[in-house]
Amino acid sequence: MSKRDYYEVLGVERGADQKDIKKAYRRFAQKYHPDRNPDDDTMAAKFREVSEAYEILSDEEKRAAYDQFGHAGVEGQAGGFGGGGAGAGGFSDIFGDVFGDIFGGGGGRRHPNAPARGSDLRYNLELDLESAVAGTTVDIRVPRHVECERCDGGGAEPGSSKDTCPTCQGHGQVRMQQGFFAVQQTCPTCHGSGQHIKVPCHKCNGEGRVRETRTLSVKIPAGVDTGDRIRLNGEGEAGINGGPPGDLYVQANIRPHDIFQRDGRHLQCEVPINFVDAALGGELEVPTLDGRVKLKIPPETQTGKVFRLKAKGIKPVRGGLPGDLLCKVVIETPVKLSEHQKDLLREFQDSLSGSNSHSPKKSNFFDGVKRFFEDMKP
Ligand SMILES: [Zn+2]
Ligand SMILES: [Zn+2]
Repeated sequence: MSKRDYYEVLGVERGADQKDIKKAYRRFAQKYHPDRNPDDDTMAAKFREVSEAYEILSDEEKRAAYDQFGHAGVEGQAGGFGGGGAGAGGFSDIFGDVFGDIFGGGGGRRHPNAPARGSDLRYNLELDLESAVAGTTVDIRVPRHVECERCDGGGAEPGSSKDTCPTCQGHGQVRMQQGFFAVQQTCPTCHGSGQHIKVPCHKCNGEGRVRETRTLSVKIPAGVDTGDRIRLNGEGEAGINGGPPGDLYVQANIRPHDIFQRDGRHLQCEVPINFVDAALGGELEVPTLDGRVKLKIPPETQTGKVFRLKAKGIKPVRGGLPGDLLCKVVIETPVKLSEHQKDLLREFQDSLSGSNSHSPKKSNFFDGVKRFFEDMKP
């Protein structure tokens, strides 16, 4: 059976933001939820469909793969909904995220002691343009949960033993009525582990994980642009019950630059020139990311003219030729003129003696204006 488009399943636009996606999922999931539709296979199938769509579209990485390659791009990643599958953690993660308030947090159907992968983390890294273009190594401080060393993540003080939780008899979940839902809720006594810790670990208070800020050295490849992400395998949150850790995504955000605007691999800048240089031609010094270069301006250069300096742009992070630097010259009208300078300009103006040949654009324009008004006459 061919799968429906995930966006169509959730009834959202392709460009929908995470808030809308979550809202759409929440609406459908409540409607199709098995607890509201017991023994209805059609509803169960619909519930699995919207859950799968949400799992992919709520994860920027998976969503990007899906946008680019369709279902083939995320094959096997949306596990945990049908029978079995290794992705059971994903299922409960969704519930922890969306239904946290209804289900009492991280409920799901996961076996209480099953290993679960830790969450991925995202770190927003601000970079200036120069570092982004040249590449750099930065130290970042990342707060995250790591497995408690004292109890090896078990939560029990070393040397103490564990019992079966008396509240849930080891199931990790208790059944509760909330509104129209009869919900399985994570056992409030053992927080889902199904075990009763007699003596909680002194370091983590029985949580099995401790909060720690680590300093990581991250290599930023040359050419990164805003929105590019660098994945650090296993540097996310610690897993639960011995599950693998999540990943850390460092997302680049390039600060605006005083001189250059970036457009992918090309750079743009504006260079002011005076009207004498523009009229007579000359040589300008223009800035590039690796120093000043000379730019020849031909005589009769008009304002707004763009000069392209080949290969003075940015070498793209994914390979390929470097871009260009586009210099737009803007003629600057002279200011703070002395009386003598004003006289020189008036003299210069007189020397043009009313001839239009020195200002073809202006004469074309006024010819046009004249025709425009003549055409309007009845
Ligand atoms: Zn501990
Ligand atoms: Zn319990």
